[in-house]
Amino acid sequence: MQEIAVIGSGQMGNGIAHVFAQNGYTVSLIDIQQSALDKAMETIGKNLDRQVGKGVLTETEKAAALGRITTHTDMKAAVKNADLVIEAATENIDLKLKIFGDLDAACKPACILASNTSSISITKIASVTQRGDKVIGMHFMNPVPVMKLVEVIRGYNTSVEVTKEIFEISKKLGKSPVEVNDYPGFIANRILMPMINEAIYSLYEGVAGVDEIDTVMKLGMAHPMGPLQLADFIGLDTCLSILRVLHDGFGNPKYAPCPLLVNMVTSRNLGVKTGEGFYKYTKGSKDIVVADYFKK
Ligand code: NAD
Repeated sequence: MQEIAVIGSGQMGNGIAHVFAQNGYTVSLIDIQQSALDKAMETIGKNLDRQVGKGVLTETEKAAALGRITTHTDMKAAVKNADLVIEAATENIDLKLKIFGDLDAACKPACILASNTSSISITKIASVTQRGDKVIGMHFMNPVPVMKLVEVIRGYNTSVEVTKEIFEISKKLGKSPVEVNDYPGFIANRILMPMINEAIYSLYEGVAGVDEIDTVMKLGMAHPMGPLQLADFIGLDTCLSILRVLHDGFGNPKYAPCPLLVNMVTSRNLGVKTGEGFYKYTKGSKDIVVADYFKK
């Protein structure tokens, strides 16, 4: 297994391309927007520089890693020779079903199709392909070059062999894979998202402010980042999509997304990626400033 294709070059796709290229794999990075690909290559370059600065990589290794990544906007042509495809496009079920149908037609029969989805059923995604045994969840954490966990999600028809292969590849990337069955939110987001939603409800109900909620969880529970800041990092659109999957999948009102989260997504205040969510993010500044809306 040598040729990897990554679909979607947003915050997760660029990290996934980075770790595969750093570990010697050839990577085709694919997006519908050339601007997203350009931004991804810039981010990968900066993140590799940081590793060089820390002595993790040499300049030569950095150049070699960058040289292993090519960018593409024509998905069907770019995946033809792939041994493994990892889909990291926007968290939207219709979009993912369309992508997997197209991948099934365009990829070699032996190619494994993985999704980095945070919550969408792998079994459902596999159902639009003719290779349910080779469709699997490979759920990396953000930021991918730093975080060790890969949640490996076995769909109803995923084979034992393919699961083993994905475990081996994850270990080659220096990650720690954990096997999880295919139920809404898997493990990571089934536990994380209700906590984030409850933090947003606490803010919405005026129990405490943004800073206070995050400080309680950082200092009181030893979390490295408060739940509101973490939501900004994940992307509020992604958080909302995951909560909707949990809500629909279990039919339990405890997963109903907070109306404040819905409003923020509708107004495109999506967190770090749009410059504002619960906090305001200024390019080049590491300061964390509560968004004006929550200072009222
Ligand atoms: P993002 O919004 O940063 O990036 C998504 C990218 O997909 C965009 O660049 C967009 O142009 C591209 N895209 C959309 N349609 C496409 C198509 N048809 N073909 C190719 N590219 C397409 O999103 P993200 O945060 O990187 O999330 C991507 C996936 O990873 C989602 O499924 C998300 O649930 C999952 N995920 C996210 C996180 C997180 O912390 N953000 C963590 C784990 C998993």
